[in-house]
Amino acid sequence: MEIKFYNTMERQVTPFSSIVPGKVGMYTCGPTVYNFAHIGNFRAYMFEDVLRRTLEFFGYQVKQVMNLTDVDDKTIRDSRAAGVPLRDFTAKYKQAFFEDLKALNIQPAAVYPAATEHIPQMIKLIGVLMDKGFGYQAEDKSIYFSIDKFPAYGRLARIDRDNQRAGVRICTDEYAKDSVADFALWKAWDEKDGDVWWESPWGRGRPGWHIECSAMSSEYLGDAFDIHTGGVDNMFPHHEDEIAQSEAASGKKWVNCWMHCEHLMLNGEKMSKSLGNFYTLRDLVAKGWSGREIRWVLIGAHYRKKLNFTMDALAQARETLGRFDEFFARLREVTAAGDGSEIADDVAAARDEFAAAMADDLNISEALAAMFDLQRTSNRLADAGGLSHDGAAAVLAAYREFDRVIGCLDVDSEKKKDEIPAEVAALAEARSAARKAKDFAESDRLRGEIAKLGFAVEDAPGGAFRLKKL
Ligand code: AMP
Ligand code: ZN
Repeated sequence: MEIKFYNTMERQVTPFSSIVPGKVGMYTCGPTVYNFAHIGNFRAYMFEDVLRRTLEFFGYQVKQVMNLTDVDDKTIRDSRAAGVPLRDFTAKYKQAFFEDLKALNIQPAAVYPAATEHIPQMIKLIGVLMDKGFGYQAEDKSIYFSIDKFPAYGRLARIDRDNQRAGVRICTDEYAKDSVADFALWKAWDEKDGDVWWESPWGRGRPGWHIECSAMSSEYLGDAFDIHTGGVDNMFPHHEDEIAQSEAASGKKWVNCWMHCEHLMLNGEKMSKSLGNFYTLRDLVAKGWSGREIRWVLIGAHYRKKLNFTMDALAQARETLGRFDEFFARLREVTAAGDGSEIADDVAAARDEFAAAMADDLNISEALAAMFDLQRTSNRLADAGGLSHDGAAAVLAAYREFDRVIGCLDVDSEKKKDEIPAEVAALAEARSAARKAKDFAESDRLRGEIAKLGFAVEDAPGGAFRLKKL
């Protein structure tokens, strides 16, 4: 099936093809480990997870590289404020980040290169840029990238070069689009950096944020690869600066497909640390929500659309996933004979629709619609007693496939059964035995006992039964 993605660089949806057939190299700008990531950040990592899972669903072998920014303006500022050495300060948040990825069932990247462990590669890359005339050392001893020397600067973010302030330099990692200027590759040591510095041919200092990604991506993916991702706020200046550095150094096209996800919003504003309007995963887990429910909310909207986060969406996720759990439990219990032909066409249609939707620039709404349709059809058939064991097995197999992308369906989980108290289970077994012995008075009495404990028994053909919470 032809896969199409929206390429930010081209501003359109285009067919995807990888440099090496069957393999995809993908670079993802990872977290700045100066705090717990918030669920807005996780929307971006979730989009990248769904992208990667989709490529794998279609048979690609994906090598995903996600960097950890463990030295930059923010990590230095906050570690110093906390009076903790940079390494110890960031270690705590690196570990928390990995725990959160696991809770959200985000598949691990192949490598998580940390910036502090790749300083020699960054120095080497800056050296190449100096040799080629793209870098220069300013009076402040820092090394800057001269954007005048790189005419292609600004293509990704559609920068109006006429607004460029000639000869202006910028040393901070982040800056606004209207202050386009030469940006720092290497920042000369400054008092506020404390003990954070490395030796370089240009004196003591530390790397700029942007050079980290250029150096680490080429270390693990080579100097041309398939997909580079991030949130839309990464487009400028971060990705623009990455492109300038990487392409100026190699002299060739760096990334084939740029993909960016829109923001997670809270009450109409971008969720962000600086605005203070954010929830961490931990905040929500403390309120009783599961990683699985949060995942469902975060994947639910198309990645190029803003998604407004609400507690109500979490409640809906709980309900929807609960209904899927019941649905899978029901399917597992179907025992009727048959060859599955009663549902085969619906299963095939749902599989086709799901795949076509995901291949169409990750059209998650259509993919979910295919999942809900098959759920409805299967339930209707089961209600009418027309679903066979083989039919149910084919439906379950389809959801197992969907879950390779969705990642939170629990198709084979026995959790629902586990949640039934032992006392209720024992009463239900006793009731089933009474029914087999045709002692219906006893069976009715036991049904009453079970109801008192908050459960209903539903009988199925062949003496099987199901317990449902009232
Ligand atoms: P940072 O740790 O600030 O560098 O951000 C890490 C990732 O999260 C980047 O890819 C950002 O684009 C992304 N990001 C930050 N805030 C949001 C948000 N509210 N919604 C979606 N992605 C975000
Ligand atoms: Zn980056």
